[in-house]
Amino acid sequence: MNILDRQLNGAGRADGAARDPRMRHQVVKERGQREVFCGLTSIVWLHRKIQDAFFLVVGSRTCAHLLQSAAGVMIFAEPRFATAVIGERDLAGLADANEELDRVVDRLLERRPEIKLLFLVGSCPSEVIKLDLSRAANRLSAKHSPAVRVLNYSGSGIETTFTEGEDGCLAALVGEAPAAAEDRPRLLVVGALADVVEDQFRRLFAEIGIEEVGFLPPRRSGDVPEIGPGTHFLLAQPFLTETARALSDRGAVHISAPFPLGAQGTLDWFAAGAAALGCDPGAVRRTLEPRAARARASLAKAREALAGKRVFFFPDSQLEVPIARFLANEIGVTLVEVGTPYLNREQHGAELDLLPAGTRLTEGQDVDLQLERCRAERPDITVCGLGLANPLEAEGLTTKWSIELVFTPIHGFEQAADLAGLFTRPLVRRTRLRV
Ligand code: SF4
Repeated sequence: MNILDRQLNGAGRADGAARDPRMRHQVVKERGQREVFCGLTSIVWLHRKIQDAFFLVVGSRTCAHLLQSAAGVMIFAEPRFATAVIGERDLAGLADANEELDRVVDRLLERRPEIKLLFLVGSCPSEVIKLDLSRAANRLSAKHSPAVRVLNYSGSGIETTFTEGEDGCLAALVGEAPAAAEDRPRLLVVGALADVVEDQFRRLFAEIGIEEVGFLPPRRSGDVPEIGPGTHFLLAQPFLTETARALSDRGAVHISAPFPLGAQGTLDWFAAGAAALGCDPGAVRRTLEPRAARARASLAKAREALAGKRVFFFPDSQLEVPIARFLANEIGVTLVEVGTPYLNREQHGAELDLLPAGTRLTEGQDVDLQLERCRAERPDITVCGLGLANPLEAEGLTTKWSIELVFTPIHGFEQAADLAGLFTRPLVRRTRLRV
């Protein structure tokens, strides 16, 4: 009996195990103390992506510190995020907080006329005092229209893990998308990608016959793609539950596919998009297969270093399942446990089909129980958040920060080797430390 089964049978607090709908994996749900960053963290990559947007966190000094340390101090550029700190006076009365927020926004927009889209980002403090940011966004939008659009979403640690901030942001943007004038089929790629990856994807889609592809989020806030019943959307990121729901509400259709990570995921993802738009599947595979073959060949070194290594995932980014699938199928690692904060069965269906049968999956977190399992298993690599990495390293375990998986361009054929490289580096580093 493995340690997870012992915890389930004994005094552990795990909720219980269930088979995934396809009966291929055991999924254990856990509820307890969590060890994750909040959704404000996603501002770090979103502010780089949408180049004329500004993110104003309505929060506390803690929120401001989190952002500064996550993003580094920007000395040369005017930053495109800030924190409106809720002071004690604001805590005493909502009227004051609203007035103060309006004043802060007025000052900001006067000083920074290049801002075209302003996000008011909710936090734990704004939630605790029940500051209605959606109403504030409507009020401020009306006041500053048409020069600036004001939207809101929550990045609060009470509600979100760190990638869910992007989900909230993109769901808010869906509301801004113009209605498609006609119902002809069109493709939409959803999820923030590095610009270099977005350009590669655009070229590849053109090569397989899809010239018109929209990307959400767009690089400029005025370029939010049209959405309508002819829209078929491919998710590039696995943490966009609310965004997918908002798109479906607008009549768009989700294309079920694995995520474009590694040669296999990228090939299947493009093929699924092409099939939805009625492209000839044979021709699409003939165009893509040489790229997939090159991507597979680029993984040879990583396979040499990593095949047979045992990997353990703590739940953090929601990227865990597709990355575990890539590491197992294309690199040959052994999956000890794959934890994810939330498993969206619909969006992950194609991934679950590709994951080796019997993979131990956990959804949610009880950090103490999971640490116990991790220590008992002594994996070769542990993928976890920053808060757990240092203590585990001190205990002699080799760790990989899951946040790097979001900051590094890892999608697509050409980035497959970089994705694998993220996992070879910690092993090399530990070997060097030992020497
Ligand atoms: Fe902390 Fe909440 Fe602010 Fe995130 S939103 S930094 S969890 S106080």
